[in-house]
Amino acid sequence: MLEVVRKVADLRAKTAQYRAGHASIGLVPTMGALHDGHLTLARSAKLDNARVIATLFVNPKQFGPREDFAAYPRDEAADAAMLERVGVDLLFAPGLEEMYPENFSTSVAVGGLTQTLCGLARPHFFGGVATVVTKLLLQAMPDRAYFGEKDFQQLQVIRRLVRDLNIPVAIVGVPTIRESDGLAMSSRNAYLSPAQRRMASALPQILQETVAELRAGNPAATILPGAKSRLHKAGFDRVDYLELCDEQTLQPIAIARPPARLFVAAFIDKTRLIDNWPVI
Ligand code: AMP
Repeated sequence: MLEVVRKVADLRAKTAQYRAGHASIGLVPTMGALHDGHLTLARSAKLDNARVIATLFVNPKQFGPREDFAAYPRDEAADAAMLERVGVDLLFAPGLEEMYPENFSTSVAVGGLTQTLCGLARPHFFGGVATVVTKLLLQAMPDRAYFGEKDFQQLQVIRRLVRDLNIPVAIVGVPTIRESDGLAMSSRNAYLSPAQRRMASALPQILQETVAELRAGNPAATILPGAKSRLHKAGFDRVDYLELCDEQTLQPIAIARPPARLFVAAFIDKTRLIDNWPVI
């Protein structure tokens, strides 16, 4: 039976019980509106740990002033039912005041890795993510925490902050779960109209075609402009970036060499979709 707690003290009482029984703990942080991508993280956590805790918190600090915090889909009852079905033991669903009490004044900033890709278009985003993930890790003190490769830059930022701050947790990256047409599952896909949803399938298609061209040894500078114009032709209004980067540094590279990955962020109307694909 899935238990729900909303206070850090209650979360800590549960984790103390788990640890007293020598049970390993896996943590799956989410913003809810769960889909099979999230559930795959939970299933991976179940395989590796005796107890699994999911968290549900729509973190205002990672949304910009003109972004979709208010509109972000929320359905805690449906999320809890899904988590229970995959065998999650505990849901930590704190309110805003529990996470950010009055006079909350601390933030965690990760340099370098956040100065590219999504960090340029969404300057507030990684500070918000780093702050909330640091809090969740310190609140739950899990053995392992699970994050999706769908948000690959976020995964690398979290790996770096955990290393830099000596937080004793293993970060586990989970491959991207996709719809049958290849579109990466995302809570934000719910914003798309049926016509926009059909258009969106061009994103993974063009990403994979471009990866094939880069794998063949063609320089990024000759391949990426054509790929961007194919995205525009397919109905994407704005391409924030389409970049070939080193997986570790996230810096752009001219020619694919391991470990390289192609990253994309593009808008259909107001909906921003991101994806990435390994090149080597
Ligand atoms: P979110 O609720 O969007 O903040 O995502 C919570 C976690 O689920 C993050 O670690 C995401 O990277 C991961 N995630 C989201 N979508 C997918 C997906 N399609 N495949 C794998 N992991 C995902």
